[in-house]
Amino acid sequence: MRNADVIVVGGGPAGSAAAARLRRGGLDVLVLDREEFPRHKLCAGWITPQVLADLAFDAGDYPHGFLSFRRLHWYLKRLHLPVPCLQHSIRRFEFDAWLLERSGAAVARHAVKEIRADGEGFTIDGEYRCRYLVGAGGTGCPVHRAFFRDAHPRLRSLQTVTLEIEFACDWTDPDCRLWFFDHGLPGYSWYVPKANGWLNVGIGALAERLKQRGDDIWGHWRRFARLLERRFAIRPPREPTGYSYYLRPPADHVRRGNAFLAGDAAGLATRDLCEGIGPAIRSGQRAAAAILDGTPYDLGDLSCASLGGLAMRAMDFALQRGALPRPALPQKGASR
Ligand SMILES: Cc1cc2nc3c(=O)[nH]c(=O)nc-3n(C[C@H](O)[C@H](O)[C@H](O)COP(=O)(O)OP(=O)(O)OC[C@H]3O[C@@H](n4cnc5c(N)ncnc54)[C@H](O)[C@@H]3O)c2cc1C
Repeated sequence: MRNADVIVVGGGPAGSAAAARLRRGGLDVLVLDREEFPRHKLCAGWITPQVLADLAFDAGDYPHGFLSFRRLHWYLKRLHLPVPCLQHSIRRFEFDAWLLERSGAAVARHAVKEIRADGEGFTIDGEYRCRYLVGAGGTGCPVHRAFFRDAHPRLRSLQTVTLEIEFACDWTDPDCRLWFFDHGLPGYSWYVPKANGWLNVGIGALAERLKQRGDDIWGHWRRFARLLERRFAIRPPREPTGYSYYLRPPADHVRRGNAFLAGDAAGLATRDLCEGIGPAIRSGQRAAAAILDGTPYDLGDLSCASLGGLAMRAMDFALQRGALPRPALPQKGASR
């Protein structure tokens, strides 16, 4: 049996951030991930200045491609809002492996199946034992499944469905572009250029709203692919890949005894832009602080909105101008 003070399930941004802080605090930390890193992760790879600050990230020390955008273009029906900004893009394939290595934690490849609570600690698959457990295994996290399913249920109304592809491309437009609610899509499409000639394009929407409309994400993808070809002379080389995850719920049950949820396992992506990397890192760091210092593990102040609410304000502006269909999101205490 391998023993550790803390086992972190999942080596994505939430798990790496927790592991890094726990290691700095002198604890014996083991990260279990079912994948070998570097691993593929569907994600546009847009990161905010806050992410850099939280990670004490110096772009000069980053060994992989890193691109900064000076402008974000928002498209809302007939409106086009070019917004000056400073935002960044990375490739998750590179970024996540770098973060995990930088954490200094021991890593083992293991797909976690069964977790048992015994006394003050946990046993995983009869092979690993720990006193504290951080569940950072994304949407299907086994820690969520074992201990949080009832207290922190997945809300169908907050489930997203996404299609995405990242490919080598000689893009010429270095700005990030977002198209909201195009042809009734209850979500948005994106164009995110990256350093070293990579491009990420994709489309994401609220699954339940699509279903209610009798709509299909693939039809929206085909329309988006035509737009990319018409406007940018870009044709993705193959079909995109699909993934589903959950946006920020009102529930806040993210700790049970010595077990913690962080990142997508706690469903922390923002409701407007589905930004999940920053909340994953913050929550991982806070879980570590709670373990190290006994501080309360509270994520209530993590914002549901990205960019200081800029997207929400842009949508309100468009609503006033042209009656856009705003996705209905549940309020605190709403039925599941
Ligand atoms: C198409 C798409 C585009 C996105 N674009 C952006 C964006 O541009 N910017 C942004 O901020 N957010 C974006 N997001 C959201 C962002 O990707 C996630 O919120 C973020 O990855 C969450 O990090 P995490 O560490 O919680 O989980 P993950 O990054 O999913 O890591 C979880 C890890 O757990 C491991 N794991 C899972 N199950 C097990 C198991 N049973 N045993 C062991 N290991 C396990 C997995 O292998 C994985 O490595 C996007 C998401 C999608 C789907």
